[in-house]
Amino acid sequence: MESKRQVQFEQKLLTSSVEDGCESAQISLEARLTAAVTRRELDVHFQPQYDVDCGQGCGVEALARWTLPSGEEISPTVFIPMAERIAMIGPLGTWVLGRACEVVAGWGKCGGQAPTLSVNVSTHQINDHFGDIIDRTLRITGLAPAQLELEITESALMANAEVAVACCEEWRALGVHIAVDDFGTGYSSLNYLARLPVDRLKLDKSFAERMTFDRKTAVIVRSVLALGREMGVAVLVEGVETEQQFALLERWGCQQVQGFLLAKPLPAAEARAVLRIPWGTRLAPIFKPNRATTRGLYAA
Ligand code: C2E
Ligand code: MG
Ligand code: MG
Repeated sequence: MESKRQVQFEQKLLTSSVEDGCESAQISLEARLTAAVTRRELDVHFQPQYDVDCGQGCGVEALARWTLPSGEEISPTVFIPMAERIAMIGPLGTWVLGRACEVVAGWGKCGGQAPTLSVNVSTHQINDHFGDIIDRTLRITGLAPAQLELEITESALMANAEVAVACCEEWRALGVHIAVDDFGTGYSSLNYLARLPVDRLKLDKSFAERMTFDRKTAVIVRSVLALGREMGVAVLVEGVETEQQFALLERWGCQQVQGFLLAKPLPAAEARAVLRIPWGTRLAPIFKPNRATTRGLYAA
Protein backbone atom coordinates (compact mmCIF):
# COMPACT_ATOMS: atom_id res chain seq x y z
CA MET A 1 0.00 0.00 0.00
CA GLU A 2 1.36 3.40 -0.94
CA SER A 3 2.11 5.60 2.03
CA LYS A 4 0.07 8.74 2.57
CA ARG A 5 3.26 10.77 2.33
CA GLN A 6 4.13 9.29 -1.03
CA VAL A 7 0.67 9.92 -2.45
CA GLN A 8 0.79 13.53 -1.27
CA PHE A 9 4.18 13.93 -2.86
CA GLU A 10 2.96 12.53 -6.18
CA GLN A 11 -0.11 14.72 -6.13
CA LYS A 12 2.05 17.75 -5.52
CA LEU A 13 4.19 16.82 -8.48
CA LEU A 14 1.36 15.99 -10.80
CA THR A 15 -0.61 19.13 -10.04
CA SER A 16 2.45 21.35 -9.99
CA SER A 17 2.49 24.59 -11.92
CA VAL A 18 5.07 27.18 -12.84
CA GLU A 19 3.36 29.72 -10.57
CA ASP A 20 3.72 27.81 -7.33
CA GLY A 21 7.37 27.05 -7.91
CA CYS A 22 6.86 23.30 -8.27
CA GLU A 23 8.43 23.30 -11.72
CA SER A 24 11.82 23.69 -10.13
CA ALA A 25 10.96 20.83 -7.72
CA GLN A 26 10.17 18.69 -10.73
CA ILE A 27 13.39 19.67 -12.50
CA SER A 28 15.30 18.88 -9.35
CA LEU A 29 13.59 15.46 -9.15
CA GLU A 30 14.49 14.81 -12.78
CA ALA A 31 18.13 15.65 -12.03
CA ARG A 32 18.04 13.31 -9.04
CA LEU A 33 16.55 10.55 -11.16
CA THR A 34 19.30 10.99 -13.75
CA ALA A 35 21.89 10.75 -10.98
CA ALA A 36 20.18 7.74 -9.38
CA VAL A 37 20.08 5.85 -12.68
CA THR A 38 23.67 6.76 -13.52
CA ARG A 39 24.90 5.71 -10.07
CA ARG A 40 22.64 2.65 -10.06
CA GLU A 41 20.88 3.71 -6.92
CA LEU A 42 17.53 2.21 -7.86
CA ASP A 43 16.29 -1.12 -6.63
CA VAL A 44 14.17 -3.93 -8.04
CA HIS A 45 11.40 -5.68 -6.15
CA PHE A 46 9.76 -8.92 -7.23
CA GLN A 47 6.06 -9.73 -7.07
CA PRO A 48 5.24 -13.45 -7.13
CA GLN A 49 2.78 -14.85 -9.66
CA TYR A 50 0.83 -18.02 -8.88
CA ASP A 51 -0.54 -21.01 -10.69
CA VAL A 52 -4.15 -21.36 -9.50
CA ASP A 53 -4.44 -25.15 -9.87
CA CYS A 54 -1.36 -26.25 -8.00
CA GLY A 55 -0.96 -23.21 -5.75
CA GLN A 56 2.73 -22.92 -6.57
CA GLY A 57 4.56 -19.73 -7.38
CA CYS A 58 5.29 -19.85 -11.09
CA GLY A 59 6.99 -16.54 -11.71
CA VAL A 60 7.90 -13.07 -10.53
CA GLU A 61 7.44 -9.62 -12.00
CA ALA A 62 10.38 -7.24 -11.58
CA LEU A 63 9.24 -3.77 -10.48
CA ALA A 64 11.62 -0.83 -10.27
CA ARG A 65 11.85 1.01 -6.96
CA TRP A 66 13.33 4.42 -6.16
CA THR A 67 13.84 5.73 -2.64
CA LEU A 68 15.29 9.18 -2.02
CA PRO A 69 18.05 9.53 0.58
CA SER A 70 15.37 11.12 2.82
CA GLY A 71 13.50 7.81 2.77
CA GLU A 72 10.76 9.17 0.49
CA GLU A 73 9.59 6.46 -1.92
CA ILE A 74 8.75 7.65 -5.40
CA SER A 75 6.21 5.51 -7.23
CA PRO A 76 7.14 4.00 -10.62
CA THR A 77 3.95 5.60 -11.92
CA VAL A 78 5.79 8.89 -11.37
CA PHE A 79 9.41 8.11 -12.16
CA ILE A 80 8.93 5.77 -15.16
CA PRO A 81 7.05 8.42 -17.22
CA MET A 82 9.62 10.93 -15.98
CA ALA A 83 12.47 8.70 -17.15
CA GLU A 84 10.72 8.41 -20.51
CA ARG A 85 10.41 12.18 -20.74
CA ILE A 86 14.06 12.89 -19.93
CA ALA A 87 15.38 10.04 -22.10
CA MET A 88 16.66 8.01 -19.13
CA ILE A 89 14.33 5.06 -19.68
CA GLY A 90 16.92 3.28 -21.86
CA PRO A 91 19.63 3.09 -19.18
CA LEU A 92 17.01 2.54 -16.44
CA GLY A 93 15.34 -0.30 -18.33
CA THR A 94 18.66 -1.91 -19.19
CA TRP A 95 19.72 -1.77 -15.56
CA VAL A 96 16.43 -3.27 -14.30
CA LEU A 97 16.67 -6.05 -16.90
CA GLY A 98 20.28 -6.85 -15.94
CA ARG A 99 19.67 -6.75 -12.18
CA ALA A 100 16.46 -8.82 -12.36
CA CYS A 101 18.04 -11.47 -14.62
CA GLU A 102 21.07 -11.64 -12.34
CA VAL A 103 18.88 -12.19 -9.26
CA VAL A 104 16.61 -14.84 -10.79
CA ALA A 105 19.51 -16.67 -12.46
CA GLY A 106 21.11 -16.77 -9.01
CA TRP A 107 17.99 -18.45 -7.57
CA GLY A 108 18.34 -21.18 -10.20
CA LYS A 109 21.95 -21.87 -9.21
CA CYS A 110 20.85 -22.55 -5.62
CA GLY A 111 18.75 -25.53 -6.73
CA GLY A 112 15.03 -25.95 -7.16
CA GLN A 113 12.98 -24.86 -10.09
CA ALA A 114 13.67 -21.27 -11.00
CA PRO A 115 10.57 -19.16 -11.66
CA THR A 116 9.96 -17.22 -14.83
CA LEU A 117 10.91 -13.57 -14.71
CA SER A 118 8.69 -10.84 -16.20
CA VAL A 119 10.31 -7.49 -16.96
CA ASN A 120 8.37 -4.38 -18.02
CA VAL A 121 9.45 -2.82 -21.28
CA SER A 122 8.72 0.83 -22.06
CA THR A 123 7.46 1.94 -25.43
CA HIS A 124 10.82 3.74 -25.87
CA GLN A 125 12.65 0.41 -25.63
CA ILE A 126 10.75 -1.08 -28.55
CA ASN A 127 13.51 -0.57 -31.09
CA ASP A 128 16.29 -2.38 -32.98
CA HIS A 129 18.86 -2.09 -30.19
CA PHE A 130 16.91 -3.75 -27.42
CA GLY A 131 17.28 -7.22 -28.95
CA ASP A 132 21.07 -6.93 -28.57
CA ILE A 133 20.66 -5.78 -24.97
CA ILE A 134 18.42 -8.78 -24.16
CA ASP A 135 20.84 -11.18 -25.85
CA ARG A 136 23.85 -9.74 -24.03
CA THR A 137 22.06 -9.68 -20.67
CA LEU A 138 21.03 -13.33 -20.98
CA ARG A 139 24.57 -14.36 -21.88
CA ILE A 140 26.15 -12.38 -19.03
CA THR A 141 23.69 -13.48 -16.34
CA GLY A 142 23.19 -17.05 -17.55
CA LEU A 143 19.39 -16.83 -17.33
CA ALA A 144 17.74 -19.24 -19.76
CA PRO A 145 15.90 -17.27 -22.49
CA ALA A 146 12.72 -19.29 -21.91
CA GLN A 147 12.69 -18.04 -18.33
CA LEU A 148 12.41 -14.42 -19.40
CA GLU A 149 9.16 -12.70 -20.33
CA LEU A 150 8.97 -9.13 -21.60
CA GLU A 151 5.81 -7.25 -20.63
CA ILE A 152 4.64 -4.61 -23.05
CA THR A 153 1.52 -2.59 -22.40
CA GLU A 154 -1.26 -2.67 -24.91
CA SER A 155 -0.92 1.07 -25.48
CA ALA A 156 2.83 0.77 -26.11
CA LEU A 157 2.16 -1.98 -28.64
CA MET A 158 -0.47 0.07 -30.39
CA ALA A 159 1.65 3.24 -30.45
CA ASN A 160 3.61 1.77 -33.33
CA ALA A 161 2.13 -1.62 -34.11
CA GLU A 162 4.33 -2.37 -37.15
CA VAL A 163 7.59 -1.80 -35.26
CA ALA A 164 6.21 -3.63 -32.22
CA VAL A 165 5.34 -6.74 -34.25
CA ALA A 166 8.81 -6.79 -35.86
CA CYS A 167 10.59 -6.30 -32.51
CA CYS A 168 8.50 -8.91 -30.69
CA GLU A 169 9.27 -11.42 -33.45
CA GLU A 170 12.98 -10.65 -33.17
CA TRP A 171 12.97 -10.99 -29.36
CA ARG A 172 10.95 -14.18 -29.51
CA ALA A 173 13.53 -15.64 -31.88
CA LEU A 174 15.99 -15.30 -28.98
CA GLY A 175 13.75 -17.67 -27.02
CA VAL A 176 12.13 -15.14 -24.67
CA HIS A 177 8.37 -14.80 -24.15
CA ILE A 178 6.15 -11.80 -24.77
CA ALA A 179 3.22 -10.69 -22.59
CA VAL A 180 0.66 -7.97 -23.17
CA ASP A 181 0.50 -5.98 -19.92
CA ASP A 182 -2.59 -4.11 -18.67
CA PHE A 183 -4.61 -5.98 -21.28
CA GLY A 184 -8.02 -4.43 -21.86
CA THR A 185 -7.06 -0.84 -21.07
CA GLY A 186 -5.37 0.39 -24.26
CA TYR A 187 -7.06 1.70 -27.36
CA SER A 188 -6.42 -1.55 -29.12
CA SER A 189 -7.92 -3.41 -31.97
CA LEU A 190 -8.51 -7.13 -31.52
CA ASN A 191 -6.81 -7.45 -34.87
CA TYR A 192 -3.40 -7.11 -33.26
CA LEU A 193 -3.98 -10.24 -31.18
CA ALA A 194 -4.03 -12.28 -34.36
CA ARG A 195 -0.83 -10.67 -35.65
CA LEU A 196 1.28 -10.27 -32.56
CA PRO A 197 3.51 -13.09 -31.43
CA VAL A 198 2.19 -13.10 -27.85
CA ASP A 199 2.54 -15.81 -25.18
CA ARG A 200 0.51 -14.32 -22.34
CA LEU A 201 -2.17 -11.72 -21.68
CA LYS A 202 -2.08 -9.93 -18.32
CA LEU A 203 -5.61 -8.74 -17.70
CA ASP A 204 -5.47 -5.31 -16.07
CA LYS A 205 -6.22 -5.04 -12.37
CA SER A 206 -9.24 -2.81 -12.99
CA PHE A 207 -11.11 -5.93 -14.15
CA ALA A 208 -10.41 -7.91 -10.98
CA GLU A 209 -11.52 -4.90 -8.99
CA ARG A 210 -14.91 -4.54 -10.72
CA MET A 211 -15.83 -8.11 -11.63
CA THR A 212 -17.40 -9.01 -8.27
CA PHE A 213 -20.02 -6.26 -8.44
CA ASP A 214 -20.33 -5.41 -12.13
CA ARG A 215 -21.98 -8.05 -14.30
CA LYS A 216 -20.56 -6.74 -17.57
CA THR A 217 -17.01 -6.74 -16.22
CA ALA A 218 -17.53 -10.32 -15.06
CA VAL A 219 -18.63 -11.27 -18.58
CA ILE A 220 -15.52 -9.61 -20.04
CA VAL A 221 -13.20 -11.46 -17.65
CA ARG A 222 -14.77 -14.81 -18.48
CA SER A 223 -14.63 -14.01 -22.19
CA VAL A 224 -10.94 -13.10 -22.01
CA LEU A 225 -10.21 -16.36 -20.16
CA ALA A 226 -12.08 -18.24 -22.91
CA LEU A 227 -10.28 -16.26 -25.61
CA GLY A 228 -6.92 -17.24 -24.10
CA ARG A 229 -7.92 -20.90 -23.94
CA GLU A 230 -9.10 -20.91 -27.56
CA MET A 231 -6.01 -19.10 -28.80
CA GLY A 232 -3.57 -21.14 -26.74
CA VAL A 233 -2.40 -17.98 -24.98
CA ALA A 234 -1.99 -17.98 -21.18
CA VAL A 235 -4.04 -15.41 -19.25
CA LEU A 236 -2.92 -14.00 -15.91
CA VAL A 237 -5.29 -11.79 -13.93
CA GLU A 238 -3.55 -8.91 -12.15
CA GLY A 239 -4.57 -7.12 -8.98
CA VAL A 240 -6.25 -9.98 -7.11
CA GLU A 241 -6.85 -8.51 -3.68
CA THR A 242 -9.72 -10.46 -2.13
CA GLU A 243 -10.80 -14.05 -1.51
CA GLN A 244 -13.98 -13.39 -3.46
CA GLN A 245 -12.03 -12.35 -6.54
CA PHE A 246 -9.76 -15.36 -6.24
CA ALA A 247 -12.62 -17.82 -5.76
CA LEU A 248 -14.48 -16.45 -8.79
CA LEU A 249 -11.38 -16.68 -10.97
CA GLU A 250 -10.73 -20.22 -9.81
CA ARG A 251 -14.31 -21.14 -10.68
CA TRP A 252 -13.97 -19.61 -14.13
CA GLY A 253 -10.87 -21.68 -14.88
CA CYS A 254 -8.32 -18.90 -14.57
CA GLN A 255 -4.83 -20.40 -14.57
CA GLN A 256 -2.59 -17.65 -13.21
CA VAL A 257 -3.00 -14.77 -10.78
CA GLN A 258 -0.95 -11.98 -9.27
CA GLY A 259 -2.02 -9.59 -6.55
CA PHE A 260 -1.75 -8.33 -3.02
CA LEU A 261 -3.91 -11.21 -1.70
CA LEU A 262 -1.16 -13.66 -2.56
CA ALA A 263 1.97 -11.52 -2.32
CA LYS A 264 3.05 -7.90 -2.65
CA PRO A 265 6.18 -6.84 -4.53
CA LEU A 266 9.07 -7.78 -2.23
CA PRO A 267 12.84 -7.37 -2.04
CA ALA A 268 14.66 -10.25 -3.78
CA ALA A 269 15.43 -12.46 -0.76
CA GLU A 270 11.91 -12.15 0.66
CA ALA A 271 10.30 -12.83 -2.71
CA ARG A 272 12.34 -15.98 -3.08
CA ALA A 273 11.40 -17.21 0.38
CA VAL A 274 7.70 -16.51 -0.22
CA LEU A 275 7.74 -18.19 -3.63
CA ARG A 276 9.02 -21.46 -2.23
CA ILE A 277 5.91 -21.96 -0.11
CA PRO A 278 2.66 -22.73 -1.97
CA TRP A 279 0.20 -19.94 -1.25
CA GLY A 280 -2.35 -22.41 0.16
CA THR A 281 0.06 -23.36 2.93
CA ARG A 282 1.30 -19.85 3.55
CA LEU A 283 -2.10 -18.19 3.63
CA ALA A 284 -4.20 -21.07 4.98
CA PRO A 285 -4.81 -19.45 8.39
CA ILE A 286 -6.38 -16.40 6.78
CA PHE A 287 -7.64 -17.74 3.49
CA LYS A 288 -9.42 -20.97 2.67
CA PRO A 289 -10.77 -20.63 -0.85
CA ASN A 290 -13.99 -22.44 -1.50
CA ARG A 291 -16.76 -22.14 -3.98
CA ALA A 292 -19.25 -20.91 -1.39
CA THR A 293 -17.29 -17.66 -1.40
CA THR A 294 -18.65 -16.95 -4.86
CA ARG A 295 -22.31 -17.50 -3.96
CA GLY A 296 -24.46 -14.56 -4.98
CA LEU A 297 -21.79 -13.07 -7.20
CA TYR A 298 -21.77 -12.78 -10.96
CA ALA A 299 -20.58 -16.33 -11.33
CA ALA A 300 -23.24 -17.99 -13.40
P1 C2E B 1 2.46 -3.06 -13.97
O1 C2E B 1 3.55 -3.55 -14.85
O2 C2E B 1 1.08 -3.34 -14.40
O3 C2E B 1 2.76 -3.69 -12.53
C1 C2E B 1 1.79 -4.04 -11.61
C2 C2E B 1 1.50 -2.92 -10.65
O4 C2E B 1 0.35 -3.23 -9.88
C3 C2E B 1 2.62 -2.72 -9.62
O5 C2E B 1 2.63 -1.34 -9.25
C4 C2E B 1 2.15 -3.56 -8.45
O6 C2E B 1 2.68 -3.14 -7.21
C5 C2E B 1 0.67 -3.27 -8.52
N1 C2E B 1 -0.12 -4.35 -7.93
C6 C2E B 1 0.15 -5.66 -7.89
N2 C2E B 1 -0.83 -6.35 -7.27
C7 C2E B 1 -1.76 -5.42 -6.93
C8 C2E B 1 -3.01 -5.51 -6.25
O7 C2E B 1 -3.48 -6.57 -5.85
N3 C2E B 1 -3.68 -4.35 -6.09
C9 C2E B 1 -3.20 -3.15 -6.53
N4 C2E B 1 -3.94 -2.07 -6.30
N5 C2E B 1 -2.03 -3.04 -7.15
C10 C2E B 1 -1.31 -4.17 -7.35
P2 C2E B 1 3.98 -0.49 -9.22
O8 C2E B 1 5.11 -1.31 -8.71
O9 C2E B 1 3.64 0.78 -8.55
O10 C2E B 1 4.26 -0.23 -10.74
C11 C2E B 1 3.40 0.57 -11.51
C12 C2E B 1 3.74 0.49 -12.96
O11 C2E B 1 5.02 1.09 -13.22
C13 C2E B 1 3.88 -0.93 -13.51
O12 C2E B 1 2.59 -1.47 -13.74
C14 C2E B 1 4.68 -0.67 -14.78
O13 C2E B 1 3.84 -0.20 -15.80
C15 C2E B 1 5.58 0.46 -14.33
N6 C2E B 1 6.90 -0.09 -13.99
C16 C2E B 1 7.38 -0.55 -12.82
N7 C2E B 1 8.65 -0.96 -12.94
C17 C2E B 1 9.00 -0.75 -14.23
C18 C2E B 1 10.20 -0.95 -15.00
O14 C2E B 1 11.23 -1.48 -14.52
N8 C2E B 1 10.17 -0.59 -16.32
C19 C2E B 1 9.03 -0.04 -16.90
N9 C2E B 1 9.07 0.30 -18.20
N10 C2E B 1 7.90 0.16 -16.21
C20 C2E B 1 7.88 -0.20 -14.90
MG1 MG C 1 3.86 -5.25 -15.72
MG1 MG D 1 -0.02 -4.49 -15.43
